Amino acid sequence: LERTQVINFNSGPCALPTSVLEEAAKGLLNYKGTGIGLAELSHRSGYFGQIVNELAGLIRKQLEVPSTHEIIFTQGGATGQFSAVVLNLLARHRLLHPNLAEEERYMDYVVTGNWSKKASEEARRLGGGVVNIVTDARTVSEDHKTFASIPPHSGFKFSQNPAFIYYCENETVDGVQFSTDPESPARFPWELLKEQDFVPVVGDYSSSFLSRPIPNLDRHALVYAGAQKNLGPAGLTVLIVRKDCLVDTDAAAKLGAQPVPITMDWKVIQSHNSLYNTPPMFSMYIAQLMLEHTEAMGGMPAITHMNEKKKDMLYEVLDEGAAKGLFRLRVEKGSRSWMNQTFHVLGDGKEKLFLEQAESAGLKALAGHRQVGGVRISLYNAINEEQTGILVKFIRKFIEENSA
Ligand code: PLP
Repeated sequence: LERTQVINFNSGPCALPTSVLEEAAKGLLNYKGTGIGLAELSHRSGYFGQIVNELAGLIRKQLEVPSTHEIIFTQGGATGQFSAVVLNLLARHRLLHPNLAEEERYMDYVVTGNWSKKASEEARRLGGGVVNIVTDARTVSEDHKTFASIPPHSGFKFSQNPAFIYYCENETVDGVQFSTDPESPARFPWELLKEQDFVPVVGDYSSSFLSRPIPNLDRHALVYAGAQKNLGPAGLTVLIVRKDCLVDTDAAAKLGAQPVPITMDWKVIQSHNSLYNTPPMFSMYIAQLMLEHTEAMGGMPAITHMNEKKKDMLYEVLDEGAAKGLFRLRVEKGSRSWMNQTFHVLGDGKEKLFLEQAESAGLKALAGHRQVGGVRISLYNAINEEQTGILVKFIRKFIEENSA
């Protein structure tokens, strides 16, 4: 089996290393010499139980997940969690505060891009509480329409004792990401939550999961991620959930909370070791192989180092293009994503030319998200420094040939 040598910069589903896919193909045919392929095995078999445990163990090790948190696996993508977060955490809030009226239950959304905006819209659709927009990053952008930075903390308006606070750590469409530097103005505003230690904070980490350590992981009630960026194929969602957020949602429903569909109930999933119903077995197997691969590369320190270098190489050449008037980067310095670089190529027909030339050079899937256009590069874990270097060389040549 062979595949054409191209470099896939898709924003998700992501590229996966060829060696991982080769190993997966073997397992698909004949898992560990059983004569049965991975997708044909019973999910109740010891073989599969081992995959679940090893996968959870590798995530716990690489992200240093504390013992206060459980790791669970589910389906329904990250979008499934837009709904599950609301239902599970409103149920928790109901158990803690049974007598509050719906108008007094707040769900706080920090809106820094298209995905957190979508999540807030789902909360509003489901109801059961009031959505409070803590900040909307569009209000601070030049055109008041685009998401271009993490807004100053002075404008953040949290509610008192909300059911939860929600943010998206890396906005895949826009290319805006919170900084891990505790001194940066673009960090997550933990200092504003000093009085609210146990309010559940939820982070959507779909497009940055396992690309670098998660700051203040222990302070989160939930960190979750769809697998299809850094980890493996779609179909699998990973949840790192604090134990006090695994609640009896049926008891909450008796007090008036909305019932939670059984496949979205975190406590049910956890108490069945993520095997309440048939899980996305093949996606989980590939995720395990992917983590073994990154572990062999040196684990989180090596991955973080590689990703930092890759994004530095890229922003350097993009800033060169911007200085020559050929590019306009969508995101301000300090809030720029390590994983997704978004920009426009200026000048009549130049963007089309850029995308066409990239495509013919084997540099695939560089068109921006359909909602925002432009160019988007995605540098997930499977893209290595050498491949990033090939893209940088292509961009530099394009700048030389196209700037005045
Ligand atoms: N959140 C983020 C940050 C994403 O990047 C995506 C998808 O790209 C989603 C949520 C939605 O994920 P899914 O398609 O798995 O529902």
